[in-house]
Amino acid sequence: MDASPSTESQDPLLGSSRFSDDSDLEGESDLDMFGFSDVLPGVEDLDAWEALLPLSRLPPLPDRNPKFWTQAFAGACVVLGFCITFVVSARNVRGDPAHWSNPTWCTAVDSVMTCLALLALFCTSFIIFGRQGEICRSKTTCYPIPAQVAKGLLAGQRPAQNRNISGPEHHPMLGSYCVRCLVWRPRDVDSHLSHHCRICQRCFVEFDHHCGVFGRCIVEGNMPCFATNIALLVLAILAMFLTNGWCGELPDELYE
Ligand SMILES: [Zn+2]
Ligand SMILES: [Zn+2]
Repeated sequence: MDASPSTESQDPLLGSSRFSDDSDLEGESDLDMFGFSDVLPGVEDLDAWEALLPLSRLPPLPDRNPKFWTQAFAGACVVLGFCITFVVSARNVRGDPAHWSNPTWCTAVDSVMTCLALLALFCTSFIIFGRQGEICRSKTTCYPIPAQVAKGLLAGQRPAQNRNISGPEHHPMLGSYCVRCLVWRPRDVDSHLSHHCRICQRCFVEFDHHCGVFGRCIVEGNMPCFATNIALLVLAILAMFLTNGWCGELPDELYE
């Protein structure tokens, strides 16, 4: 049931009981947090929560947005296309070794280009198939369940409200409760933000942005691969210039 803000402010555990401000959520509602705050002090009560509402009884996670699949497929094709183009282009200029203007460079660029392509494929696979930063359901991320949500789940209903629920102030792990994933996100600290992605339909920690090319959220865990892929693209383009400029065949008049 809904409660007035004044009722919430009387709860010493919840303080001002504000709600998280995910931009994709709309509307405001105040929640009855009394039952929720009652069980908060007992972290050891996770077993009791599991007995009351086992993870297997929770509703399934939200369906992925179709873009989750199409963007990843398109991104993989783009990277694969670039890799093939760069590797094939590098090899095409090798031609007859006797005609190379700089055999050492030709061999090096060819080898380097192949390595860069393999590295790009690895980074892309890591971004697409890895689950970096995703908050998975577990005893520690799902419990305790806010009272209003728990009441609905026990009645066989998904949460009706569309606002995430703030946890007790100063609690590092119970920052805000996502009513779609039904998990707790850690409290936001500095640039380490938790966020529910509308494309991936999952909550992430240390969120940076959702990449429309790879169709995955970029978080601290896969940021090195994301940055590497961008750097590799620049390197590959530079290598193409090197290949064409320094490894091309000699003019006919020079080797005849
Ligand atoms: Zn979520
Ligand atoms: Zn995402």
